[in-house]
Amino acid sequence: MIQRQLKLRLHPSQERHLHTWLFQLTGVWNWAIRTIEQDAKDGIYYTQKDFHNLLSHHGRKLGIPSHTLQGMLDTAYLAWARCFKKLAKKPRLKGQRNKLTSIPFPDPFKAPAGTHVLIPSLGHVRFHAQALPAGLLKSGRIIKRASGWSLCLCIDAPPNAIPPVAAGAIGIDPGFHTLLTLSTGEKRAHPHELRQTERRLGQAQRGDRARLVARLHERLANQRKDRNHTLSRRLVAENRVIVWSKDNATGLARAFGKSVASAAHAQLRGLLSSKCPASGRQFLAVPSRFSTKTCSACGSLSGPTGYAGLKVRQWSCAACGSAHDRDVNAAINTLHAGVGTPHERRRKAVPGIPWLEPWGGSTMVDTHAAASTVREQPQKIAPAPV
Ligand SMILES: [Zn+2]
Repeated sequence: MIQRQLKLRLHPSQERHLHTWLFQLTGVWNWAIRTIEQDAKDGIYYTQKDFHNLLSHHGRKLGIPSHTLQGMLDTAYLAWARCFKKLAKKPRLKGQRNKLTSIPFPDPFKAPAGTHVLIPSLGHVRFHAQALPAGLLKSGRIIKRASGWSLCLCIDAPPNAIPPVAAGAIGIDPGFHTLLTLSTGEKRAHPHELRQTERRLGQAQRGDRARLVARLHERLANQRKDRNHTLSRRLVAENRVIVWSKDNATGLARAFGKSVASAAHAQLRGLLSSKCPASGRQFLAVPSRFSTKTCSACGSLSGPTGYAGLKVRQWSCAACGSAHDRDVNAAINTLHAGVGTPHERRRKAVPGIPWLEPWGGSTMVDTHAAASTVREQPQKIAPAPV
């Protein structure tokens, strides 16, 4: 299942229509949230179908497609279900300060003809031309953004595999000063999108221009997403095994605030973890514990630690004397945590991970070619009976 977004070019009357629906669906959402809150006793409440039936025939009264109404009720129902299972916080009511911005369409869509797509009860809607992959359009959602309206489609098609260029193994240490440090010694500089826009953002906020503020925030999010897609694509193409150093993101966000959000490491990690299996690559997330403190050459715990050790960027090991760059050392330790140290890998292959040569960077091995040569090996001929 893959997702594509079409940027819509709405007629003013269609836009008015959608604004009315958003207004009415806000009421539906708030009603649903309050109803479940009042009626649920110890997490026991309606079944999903009974809950739909409470508002049967209301779609026609409100002029909203009945399945869109049900989609809204489902969203509210699932939000509460997640809360009762202690997976999420209590769902919030929608209003002026916490606006509803999307309209669900849970039914399959017809394939768009040219640059027009048929939306239930709204008719044919134009969109900016975009090629869609072949497959059934299972469901959709109209989203209102600062830049305009878009239709998000769920398409029943396999994701595209990224063609491999190399077959290396890499450990990644995410950071704020440098965005990523790789175990090969490469450092990826932080583009600091937020720092570049901060001045304009401040001006817009002081000028009380809410729409401009929203637009700038949307652009920042797009820049981060674009950067992460480019980066993850390159890493997946070049590496057979990717090991990510997993930090405590919530704790870090409490200590470092907006640098966590602006780095968008969680998004990058999510992209890597979804692109790797689709391209036949392996993604591992290992805890970051001791990754900075450990010497990657001898394994002694002689490196910098804690907040006081944060400013130590270069250090040399007290046990073996090897000089280390703080981040590169952490990235190498991350790789060791995922696939084993060179010594361990020489002793035994780690289960579930293909054998890797003791390194010096990426090894150029074409996995497909290797697999085909194995298959073409001549079969052993049984010795003739004597
Ligand atoms: Zn050492």
